[in-house]
Amino acid sequence: MLDEDIELAKQARLNSYSPYSNFQVGAVLRTKSGKVYLGCNIENHGIQGICAERTAFAKAISEGEKEFKSITIVGGKKGEEPTDECMPCGYCRQFISEFVDDEFKIRVIGKNNTIEEYTIKDLLPYGFKL
Ligand code: ZN
Repeated sequence: MLDEDIELAKQARLNSYSPYSNFQVGAVLRTKSGKVYLGCNIENHGIQGICAERTAFAKAISEGEKEFKSITIVGGKKGEEPTDECMPCGYCRQFISEFVDDEFKIRVIGKNNTIEEYTIKDLLPYGFKL
C-alpha cells in the first residue's frame, strides 16, 4: 500500500505526545485547494487532551481554511506499526461534521492493509444539530 496521505499521517504520528496511553495517532487533513495540515494526539495529566483529527482541523481553520476534501488517520501503540481501523472518536465525529460536506472522505487503514473511506454520514448518521 503506497499512499501519500498514509505516509504523511505516519510522519505526523511520530510527533504524538501520548505518555499516558502510549497510543500514537497522526492525521492528515487535505483542503479542497490542495493544502495539507498535519495533526497528532496531544495528552496531558488532565482529561483535556486533543485528538490528531481535531489538531489538524484547528490548525487549518485558524489559518483561514473553510473547504476540506479528506482526512487520513493512522494510529497504534508506540513503537508498533499502525493498527487497522483507527476510527475517529465520537467527539471528533461531531466536531468534523461541523466543517465538512457529504463528499468529504474519512480515510483509515482497513483490514488486510487496504484503505477504507467513509463519509461523515457513515460515521455520524444522527449527529446533534441546534
Ligand atoms: Zn477524537
